[in-house]
Order: sequence, then structure tokens, then C-alpha cells
Amino acid sequence: MSERARPIPVPDELSRPFYEATKRHELLLQRCTSCGAHTWAWKGRCDQCLSGELRWVKSSGRGTLYSYAVVHQLYHPGFAESVPYNVAQVDLDDGLRIIASVVGCPSSELAIGMPLEVTFEDVSDELAIPRFRPR
Ligand SMILES: [Zn+2]
Repeated sequence: MSERARPIPVPDELSRPFYEATKRHELLLQRCTSCGAHTWAWKGRCDQCLSGELRWVKSSGRGTLYSYAVVHQLYHPGFAESVPYNVAQVDLDDGLRIIASVVGCPSSELAIGMPLEVTFEDVSDELAIPRFRPR
């Protein structure tokens, strides 16, 4: 990969099931089998009770826009064709807040509380990244 290429995630032991699912265009979350809380992102422990008993469950993929920022500054040459882009906090209907980008909508039309649904960007033959779009 050249220094100008956009950096993409490299799945590791903890995140591999997540990225295997995104490749199938499915959004997975980890759910604690002890207390039932969802955890984001992939971890070895529950955020709420610290149990190590987590299992992967499919997300509804639906949520609402909690907040966002529009990035105009070019921090990496791989994003030269993307600026300005948004970084959003999405409240999933599953009961947790995650960070993603909203696509399919100009940043000027983003509105707090707007309904969103997951979509996927295939960034390589092996990797897809979850994004959100208006629904
Ligand atoms: Zn727990």
C-alpha cells in the first residue's frame, strides 16, 4: 500500500468476526451474556459488568444521528478525494452509540435525530466498512 492510499482497518483476532460479517454486509455487535448489554467496538470485556462472556449478535442496522462533525482539514493524503467528510455518532436502535460516517447525503443536510440505516462500503475484495445513510 502506498503512503497515499487511504488507510483501512486490519482485522485482528478480536475484530475478525466483525469484519467477516461486514464483508457479507451484516453489522454485528457484541452482547454480554451476563448482563445483556451491547458493547462497541469489539472488546474482550463487557463495558457494563466487565464479564468476558460476549457473543456476536446481528444489529438491526437502524438508528438515528446523535451528533456529527464535518472534517475539512486533510490529515492524510488518502482522504484527499473525501474532504469534506463527516464523522458521526449514531444511536443504534439496539441501544448503543457508535461512530461511523453518513453517506448518501450532503453534510449540509445532516440533521440531529435523522433516521439512519447501515450500508456498506466495499473497500477491497476482503473488507467492507459500515456506513450509514438516511432512511
Ligand atoms: Zn455485562
